[in-house]
Amino acid sequence: MKNYKNVPFYAFGEGSIDGLKEILESKRNGSSVIFMIDDFFIDKGVEKKLPIEKKDIVIFISTKTEPHSEYIDELAAEIKTQCSSPAAIIGMGGGTVMDIAKCVSILLTNPGKAEDYQGWDLIKKPGIFKVGVPTISGTGAESSRTGIFTSPKVKLGMNSDYSMFDQIILDPQFLKTVPTDKFIFTAMDCYLHDIELLRGDNNKITKSLAEESLKIMREILLNGMDYEKLMIASYLGGCAMATADGGHICHPVSYGLSLVLGTRHGLSVCLSFSSLADYYPEEIKEFNKILEKFKVKLPKNVTKGVTEEQLERMAEAVLKNEKPLRNAFGDNWQKIFTKEKVKEILRKI
Ligand code: ZN
Repeated sequence: MKNYKNVPFYAFGEGSIDGLKEILESKRNGSSVIFMIDDFFIDKGVEKKLPIEKKDIVIFISTKTEPHSEYIDELAAEIKTQCSSPAAIIGMGGGTVMDIAKCVSILLTNPGKAEDYQGWDLIKKPGIFKVGVPTISGTGAESSRTGIFTSPKVKLGMNSDYSMFDQIILDPQFLKTVPTDKFIFTAMDCYLHDIELLRGDNNKITKSLAEESLKIMREILLNGMDYEKLMIASYLGGCAMATADGGHICHPVSYGLSLVLGTRHGLSVCLSFSSLADYYPEEIKEFNKILEKFKVKLPKNVTKGVTEEQLERMAEAVLKNEKPLRNAFGDNWQKIFTKEKVKEILRKI
């Protein structure tokens, strides 16, 4: 039997952040709360909107690069030196900050390093109480099981019921801070999650969630931005991922690219999708139309300069994503989606 979990509690609507104080009151028990905030908010006065108390720890998280295992390990170690048993962790930001908060929460109660838990259902104990507050929507990190990051060998997530937030606060007031150029890539991330889930062999609940999310995304992408709708589409897309039996091809290929070249996630999935026209012949037409509408020109010849050794690392990283690839190609996936095939796709990017 498969038993699917979604985020147990969500607060939604403009001003819902005000409810965080009450949520934390029942958890504090005299301990500190860790606030991890996107460094975009430095000197923007966002702390005034948060119920930060004297003994709490506020850490601004750098989002210039994709999250890395060493950074996650360092954060967990630093928190342990400052506080023996924090009551809760708040991750406020985009996918990067939320994923880091999820992973640090796990490392505060489980032994070892972040990379020990890259994969599916490897975490033994629940992390500390964690709250997600998205300020950029699209990645679905607020409602998915995944906390994704790069370690020396692979870009892969912690995927577990324990790596899911215990509470999320969906307050569209924070989304208004998103610059337009960032919006299109996070929006495309959500759009592509939905496409992949609908193409994969997934249960009807997952497909219904992905269908609704995709419907809203199409509305936004064709009729113009609506922050609240984007927030809903991203949340539903994350719920779809959380209940999915597996993803598809586009994300695994993007992970190979990001691992070696450090390509940001939103751009990486777009580059990956554009090289997979053979696998998504219908979907690619709409994808190209959207990029054209937003005047986005994807960079070309991205992998032209990579060495044979780098290409090998990329392909190996792609093939580590067994679950989505099995979902896309069936049990014989390794015979169909061979390393040579992967390299051929990567060379096209
Ligand atoms: Zn994604």
